[in-house]
Amino acid sequence: MPVARPAGRRGGGAGWPAASPGPCVRDGRAARGGSWQDRGVLDRLTLSATLTGPDRPGITHALMSAIAGLGTEVLDLEQVVVRGQVTIALLLGSLPDDLDTLQDRLAGTCARLGYRLTIDEGLGDNPPRLKRVVVTVLGRPLRATHLAAVSRVVTEHGGNIDRIRRLSRTPLTTLELVVSGTDVAHLRPALAATAAETGFDVSVSPAGLARQGRRLVVMDVDSTLIQDEVIELLAAHAGKQAEVAAVTGAAMRGEIDFTESLHQRVATLAGLPVSVFDAVRADIRLTPGARTLVATLRDLGFAVGLVSGGFIEVVGPLAASLGIEHVHANALEVVDGHLTGRVTGEVVDRAAKARTLRRFADAEGLPLSRTVAIGDGANDLDMLATAGLGIAFNAKPAVRASADTSLNLPYLDAVLYLLGFSREEVEDAAAQRRPDAEDA
Ligand SMILES: [Mg+2]
Repeated sequence: MPVARPAGRRGGGAGWPAASPGPCVRDGRAARGGSWQDRGVLDRLTLSATLTGPDRPGITHALMSAIAGLGTEVLDLEQVVVRGQVTIALLLGSLPDDLDTLQDRLAGTCARLGYRLTIDEGLGDNPPRLKRVVVTVLGRPLRATHLAAVSRVVTEHGGNIDRIRRLSRTPLTTLELVVSGTDVAHLRPALAATAAETGFDVSVSPAGLARQGRRLVVMDVDSTLIQDEVIELLAAHAGKQAEVAAVTGAAMRGEIDFTESLHQRVATLAGLPVSVFDAVRADIRLTPGARTLVATLRDLGFAVGLVSGGFIEVVGPLAASLGIEHVHANALEVVDGHLTGRVTGEVVDRAAKARTLRRFADAEGLPLSRTVAIGDGANDLDMLATAGLGIAFNAKPAVRASADTSLNLPYLDAVLYLLGFSREEVEDAAAQRRPDAEDA
């Protein structure tokens, strides 16, 4: 059994060669008499043990039973399993005077289990971790190059990676890193730029309470919740696809603004019967993962909203079918059962989308820090900037460059990883829902 002998360990218990005292850790404790236990935890003598071996049930019980009765305090106990190999990190305080017995019991347990053990005597626990942020890194595949880039930027900004866990393995790999010593305002733009250069996705969020509890998620519809543009589906029924595409092109080139382009495109729909709405609803293709995202958010008790520059006649029923409670979109004027080619009411443009996010948040009694906005277009930019977390989803390059967070993978449910949920948790929740509520 491979056992690494701890540097500085005294004495020689079973299976342990005798060693001279190390850097006087235990002597230091003796010299301070009985007062050391009353000091802050950072001054206390502690023993750190790291065990590695094949994962199997009963490890923790074997370990704890072996040292139970020695009066030691468990200050920390963490473990991770990677490809069937478990690594357990244990930090003990209130150490007994007979430290050899403690170490021998740990060593004996590890020998029996066939585990590697390293023991290190020292002082205290980790120092308090301040200014913590959560960095979520996604890739398909996720490469060492990507993590080299992330860790370099974290270090350059004074950060330290305290903890890493995997949130998903397939179809994309997602890692969540808890980083201390830096802040969102500095790290977020630097990592976003590096991610865009290196070809992975990254999100930086404040750690702590803002990440826990209920949130509001507001989504754009066209090319975000769905793969289509509703105006194009309507235009196809009117035989006006080419005209609409020409206006869209002019808007994208900046020759006309969004409101003008909307009016011009809606004008092409004049004369269509209202039955076209049913036809278009049947044409809509949800984005992969959309149903899972919405259903999971609803399971969590989160509020969900849609805000669209498209049309309420199509977006409203879509929201109802998904159980989405908040909806705002443009409305098409209908006279005698036919579209007039005009919209009614306020046009839902870039500014209106951001106002709508605030209105939904107010209605839910949630602060903006607890809001998430997802969109792909230029008219989503204000909404993305207003939200606590703004996610550019498979966005146009200009939008991607302006947004804090970009997802460039075609799975809308990857948003759940950015919120800190693992694929296992998402799949467990899905298994508890009706089968017909899942993505096909
Ligand atoms: Mg869109």
